[in-house]
Amino acid sequence: MRDGRETMRKIEATEGLEARQSKIDGTGCFATVPFRKRRKIAELTGERVSRVEAARRMRSKERLHICAIDSYWGIDGSVGGNAAQFINHSCQPNSFVRIMHGRIIFFALRDIKAGEEITLDYIESYHSNEKRCDCGAAKCRGTINLIKK
Ligand SMILES: [Zn+2]
Repeated sequence: MRDGRETMRKIEATEGLEARQSKIDGTGCFATVPFRKRRKIAELTGERVSRVEAARRMRSKERLHICAIDSYWGIDGSVGGNAAQFINHSCQPNSFVRIMHGRIIFFALRDIKAGEEITLDYIESYHSNEKRCDCGAAKCRGTINLIKK
C-alpha cells in the first residue's frame, strides 16, 4: 500500500464485510460471513458525484473508489463510504453489480465463503483503457477495462 492515509480513513461499518490488505491491490474487501449465490452482499455507499467531479478527483488520486451509476452520476466511496469501496477488480470475479433506483448494489455471482476477497469485473471503469490488470486470475485479460474491438 503506497497511500498510508487510506488506512487512516474512517470506514463505515458494513455487516459481513471488512477492509484489509489484499494480494490483488492495496486494500481489499473481504467477506466475514458466507454469501449464497445471487444474494445481496452490500450497497456501495459514499458521496454522489457528477462525471465532471469524478474526472477532477481522478487526476489527484492513484486509487479510485468511484463507481458509475449512469453516464453522468457516480458514487465516491472514499467519502463516508463503506468497505464495498475496496472491492477490487478481477477478470474472474465472485460478485456483480446491479444499479437499482440510483443505488449500486453488489450481489454474489457464486457461493462465497467467509474470508474470501470480494471481487468485481469492472468492465468499464474510470481507469484508462491502458491500465494494466494484475488480478492473478487464470483467465486475466491483461487490462482492467474490457476493450471492445
Ligand atoms: Zn485480470
